[in-house]
Amino acid sequence: MRIIDLRSDTVTRPTDAMRRAMLVAEVGDDVYGEDPTVNRLQELAAELVGKEAAIFVPTGTQGNLLAILVHCQRGDEYIAGQQAHCYRYEAGGAAVFGSVQPQPIEFESDGTLDLARVAAMIKPDDHHFAVTRLLCLENTQAGKVLPLAYQAEAAQFARRHNLKLHLDGARLFNAAVSQGVDAKLITGYYDSVSFCLSKGLGAPIGSILAGSRTFVDRAHRWRKMAGGGMRQAGILAAAGIHALERHVERLAEDHRRARQLAEGLASIAGLSVDTNAVATNMVFVNIAPGLRGPVLAFIRERGILAGGYGQLRLVTHLDIDDQDIPSVVAAFADALKTCKAGD
Ligand SMILES: *Cc1c(COP(=O)(O)O)cnc(C)c1O
Repeated sequence: MRIIDLRSDTVTRPTDAMRRAMLVAEVGDDVYGEDPTVNRLQELAAELVGKEAAIFVPTGTQGNLLAILVHCQRGDEYIAGQQAHCYRYEAGGAAVFGSVQPQPIEFESDGTLDLARVAAMIKPDDHHFAVTRLLCLENTQAGKVLPLAYQAEAAQFARRHNLKLHLDGARLFNAAVSQGVDAKLITGYYDSVSFCLSKGLGAPIGSILAGSRTFVDRAHRWRKMAGGGMRQAGILAAAGIHALERHVERLAEDHRRARQLAEGLASIAGLSVDTNAVATNMVFVNIAPGLRGPVLAFIRERGILAGGYGQLRLVTHLDIDDQDIPSVVAAFADALKTCKAGD
């Protein structure tokens, strides 16, 4: 049975063409800086996001961690969203490894942080307080794309308050494709940016952290310390290059399918979907809590996997095609007719 896995865009398998690129990748020892494919990926990535330099890291989590460790010293503070990946979903790494205190703030419904609320959280210069050093934004945030004007304002705000500005751009290219802009236009507002190769771009492993030459040099030492110095990583970097060269424009297809999926699901009694909120590849579906378990079990019988906390989350990606969308909608329609609320 074909499995339609909508839990995340991390589940993509490398395509045959990507595997061929990996197979023939020239490699060397990247800890010596001698892997030509890693070097090529880092140059390409830096160029795509308009930064002086970039470093290849195993995960987005490590990319964000290194960024915080470079921007902040022990006893400093970073401000991030309450649901931000770099605060909530990275096991407290910045606090554990860097002794950097997080200051979470609730996201607004559009995925931004209200800059007036951020300002109110910046600590005064007083020895009672940690030193607020860094503001982290996320784009896309739960599938939402941050407005360019907001990011421009955030950049000015950060400069005014002497803060560094980091973008957790795990799905940066989804944002850029959705807005029809060059990714550089977004990343230009930030001192540093991380993005994932292993999500919608379809690489099996890997993320990029980019910034100034000095920033990346310092990130290099932290990466080594965190155990992220990889050897013949060109095999992985080749997948990343392939992804950046071949899989960016096609994100628009994922976005189109997500929208079709949202519209299909919105027409089913018992489900509610804010179709207008679907800007990229994520669809969030409200369902009665008692129905959630039975409906997920029902669609699983048809080989369809969905996830999420509370709301259902369905994510389109490289391994989801046009025919899958009506199959998923039909499975949900049948599930809502059949399932009784459980406990
Ligand atoms: C996935 C993700 C990351 C990084 O995740 P890894 O699994 O460590 O690669 C960071 N931020 C956001 C918003 C993400 O969605």
